[in-house]
Amino acid sequence: MSRSKVANIALGVLCGPILCCWIAFASCCCPGRLHRHGESEDRKRFERRQVMSPRPLAVRPPERALTIPVPIPPTERHKNARGKTLNQSRSRLLSLPLELRQMIWRAALGDSTIHMVLKKNKLGHLRCKESRTVDCPLGYNGKTLSRACCWGAVDRANIWQPKGGNGPKHTDGNVLPLLQSCRQIYSEAIEYLYTTNCFSFYDLDCLRYFSCTTLPSRFSLIRTLDIEWCLTWPIYDPVAQSFLLTSPALYPPHDEATWEETWRVIAAMPNLNFIRVSLLYFDGFRDRRCERKMLAPMRKVTRPKVFEVHVSWHGDEHAEDAPFTLIRPVAEDGEGQ
Ligand SMILES: [Zn+2]
Repeated sequence: MSRSKVANIALGVLCGPILCCWIAFASCCCPGRLHRHGESEDRKRFERRQVMSPRPLAVRPPERALTIPVPIPPTERHKNARGKTLNQSRSRLLSLPLELRQMIWRAALGDSTIHMVLKKNKLGHLRCKESRTVDCPLGYNGKTLSRACCWGAVDRANIWQPKGGNGPKHTDGNVLPLLQSCRQIYSEAIEYLYTTNCFSFYDLDCLRYFSCTTLPSRFSLIRTLDIEWCLTWPIYDPVAQSFLLTSPALYPPHDEATWEETWRVIAAMPNLNFIRVSLLYFDGFRDRRCERKMLAPMRKVTRPKVFEVHVSWHGDEHAEDAPFTLIRPVAEDGEGQ
């Protein structure tokens, strides 16, 4: 028998028990993870999310444009179409100077945190009850990240569930009624909705859907993003994913493709000024090379003046040459960074 075969057998004898011990340990300490993936729970969740995904933005004909001036209808049959504007000269509110009106629109619609949530076939929004995003308490409710004071609850597929079970509200943030009341108000106020609010996301798909269901000219106005994301399993780590025994190992939005697409969307936002990202994963990365691959798509986001990436795990990578600041938990005494 050759020396290489002897070495392989010896390696197998040594590593076999270690592998068995690891699987037994993982089964005992993290049964939810092994069972969840083994029973295709991720597949059911993925399929439910597909059914509940928002519909694409409908193409609005020019005569129904929301902003003024409304184009003149090209034919007689459009004379009675929706979209005509009425004279508002008798309105006391609209008689105020433009500067005052703009202050009112901003106070009514802006300078808040807007939590974006997934609803049945559409997106929803909830205005944060805290004055600053960082003050909005974030926790793990056993299924996903949750802000109990602002969101209510979500189901296992991360679809928002209204408090009290009264069915989804038309609007939760009291943003739309003012905008829908008058085309002139809409035209003057809509920019404050996008330029002065912080848009908060807890789901990568939610952000991608938002980019597809919002007019590009509006979406590009956004300046502030706050993203919380719970990594359920190591991405860019084929060894760790091989233990899931499913194909594919990771379903969207927890896969590498969704992660990269999300950062492509963010990198293309021209007016971003501030991003705060909070990544939660309970075990950290097994290999610093996998962590570097995970951080790589974020390096393409170069426009924001402030770009913070908070991670919940320790590690050696500091990404000092990156456009973002990587912020790890403070190391305790005797614990590695
Ligand atoms: Zn909040």
